[in-house]
Amino acid sequence: MIRIGHGYDIHRIVAARPLVLGGVRFETDFGLLGHSDADCLTHAVCDALLGAAGLPDIGHYFPDSDPAWKDADSQLLLQRVVAELRAHHFSPVNIDATLVAEKPRIKPMIGAMKAALARSAGLSPDAIGVKATTHEGVGEIGRGEAIAAYAVALIERP
Ligand SMILES: [Zn+2]
Repeated sequence: MIRIGHGYDIHRIVAARPLVLGGVRFETDFGLLGHSDADCLTHAVCDALLGAAGLPDIGHYFPDSDPAWKDADSQLLLQRVVAELRAHHFSPVNIDATLVAEKPRIKPMIGAMKAALARSAGLSPDAIGVKATTHEGVGEIGRGEAIAAYAVALIERP
């Protein structure tokens, strides 16, 4: 049996926070606002995997109200999500994600993001797609006020 899932996430850009996307730290003077490390790419991937399994979303497993997840490394969240899938006898097959960000330049970091997500999901890097696009200057993302991510994931129950 194979199943597909979709995830979306957006976080507001703020000063004086580290920027982490796909498990990779960017050298910027801005970051994303959130309870955890606010890694919107990894959060979208988590929701795609959970959605494929018909499970509740990331907010159910890692609520903002829980101090345990304050500034948490989202790779840990992704590892927990994959463990939850395995507990339901599902395994990830592949993941494809798109980051929507006006800044910073994403492309040079894509290899590192694929490697980090692959490690956390227990997949080979060639089973992870990461693409990046800008928002062409339009709207909140285009004005550099937020970064968003979309992801789809295929899972199987052998
Ligand atoms: Zn998020």
